[in-house]
Amino acid sequence: MDIEEFRKAGYAAIDSICDYYANISQVPVKAKVQPGYLIDQLPKEAPEDGQRFDEIQKDFGKLILPGITHWQSPSFFAYFPANSTFECMIADLYSSSVSNPGFNWICSPACTELEQVVVEWAARMLGLSKDFWGSSGIGGGVIMGSASDSAFTAAIAAREKALRRLSVESGVKAGDNGQIEIPDKIRQEYGQKLVVYGSTQTHSLGAKAALMLGLPFRAIPVSIDDQYALRGEAVREAIEKDKKDGLVPFLVYATVGTTSTGAVDRIAEIGEVLKEYPTTFLHVDAAWAGVAYALPQYRESLRLQEVNEYADSFCTNFHKWGLTTFDCSIFCVKNRKDLTQALDVTPPFLRSKEADAGTVIDYRNWQPALGRRFRSIKLWFVLRSFGVNGFQKHLERGIEHCQRLTEIVSQSSKFEIITPPSLALLVFRLNPSSSGGGKVDDDKLNLLNQKLHQRLDTRYDIFLTQTVLHSIERNVFCIRLAMGGVNTSFEDVQRAWEIIEEEGERVLSEGDGLVLG
Ligand SMILES: *Cc1c(COP(=O)(O)O)cnc(C)c1O
Repeated sequence: MDIEEFRKAGYAAIDSICDYYANISQVPVKAKVQPGYLIDQLPKEAPEDGQRFDEIQKDFGKLILPGITHWQSPSFFAYFPANSTFECMIADLYSSSVSNPGFNWICSPACTELEQVVVEWAARMLGLSKDFWGSSGIGGGVIMGSASDSAFTAAIAAREKALRRLSVESGVKAGDNGQIEIPDKIRQEYGQKLVVYGSTQTHSLGAKAALMLGLPFRAIPVSIDDQYALRGEAVREAIEKDKKDGLVPFLVYATVGTTSTGAVDRIAEIGEVLKEYPTTFLHVDAAWAGVAYALPQYRESLRLQEVNEYADSFCTNFHKWGLTTFDCSIFCVKNRKDLTQALDVTPPFLRSKEADAGTVIDYRNWQPALGRRFRSIKLWFVLRSFGVNGFQKHLERGIEHCQRLTEIVSQSSKFEIITPPSLALLVFRLNPSSSGGGKVDDDKLNLLNQKLHQRLDTRYDIFLTQTVLHSIERNVFCIRLAMGGVNTSFEDVQRAWEIIEEEGERVLSEGDGLVLG
């Protein structure tokens, strides 16, 4: 393809993307295909000879789109939204146009420096304390592909930090470069005794990070009375139990806005407890809710002050509710050395005079991988074209949809809201006794709601996900409705609710020996 052919094909691509968005509310949100649908249609091997590009482009519409779940559909209410915007799509195109692996400053100075700037813009917009800003010279942020990557990176940093601390305690002195080398003896003695903590509501990234490090993950139980938030005393209890067994606590994952219900862990309580265990590191996972710190009126309920005071690291995804096309996960630390001392491995071919002089950041030392995408341009385009005001308006819209839906659901005699609505997330279940009358026991309600979810799952015009809330008291099966989509209006939310009510009525009328009362 030469430049003129690219120009033509590029315009054609933009045209077809525009058509797609013009019709997005008409398309069923879920893909109507069976497993293997695409594999069966594609040849087993790559073509021997090159093919016409317009044919290839046509196949995107013919073969790929039928197998796409339309996350940008106004009727997408599953998981959390994965906002995408035209501004950001264009940024992604520019990023591709100067494609490079950006691991060192010298790879493309603009990529590193733009990242430094926009991550700080984000941190300031969210009200993160100066300790997390890159301009502090001590802390700073980096853009990762996912909250899972951020959490895993935090775990590696936390492990090395704990082992350095244990080294110092056993008499190891800093070398000429001021760094503590962890002796093999310490690694052997403590490396396998480290324990990760979170709650039963922590995203699976916690258990996964622990698994990847070959260490245990303790999912600490939470209570309905605390609205599924992790408490400090529960953390202490879990740590004490492990310490009795000779184990070493080194990392706690606290969540601001859990995936199931948007619960906010008691950060200050946990932080106070962790002061007694100096080998521990506190990572706050605010993958979904963190962007809402852009709204000052929600900072207190989302415990921003506590995060600023107690967290060692913090993560939020702009690629969820933050208008930024996947992927863009902001990961901030109060001490960048926690990352570089764990992840800086520099063979001679990666050295540069700028890095040796210590005047630039080489982001490869802040993450497990070497190469990295030029993601900062996406956030730059978004924050400039929307401005903080536009960003806030977008968030407020999702929250308002949720508040209006909450009013409707709370007047229903067949449904009940399970936890107080969190920002743009509503969690509810079918409960025919919710307006008083006879009680239905929990097992039956769980069964009933599984049926409701199964019915909703057979529909293509709406997409919602279920969750099971585990707590000390009981397990509750319920349905989540996550708002905040860029293309979603309140009418779309209302239509979704009508569908849910309709399916709820059907489930109730089927009865199935469900003795009520
Ligand atoms: C979505 C979510 C995650 C996972 O995010 P990835 O970027 O896909 O890794 C983690 N934690 C919470 C609380 C989430 O809502």
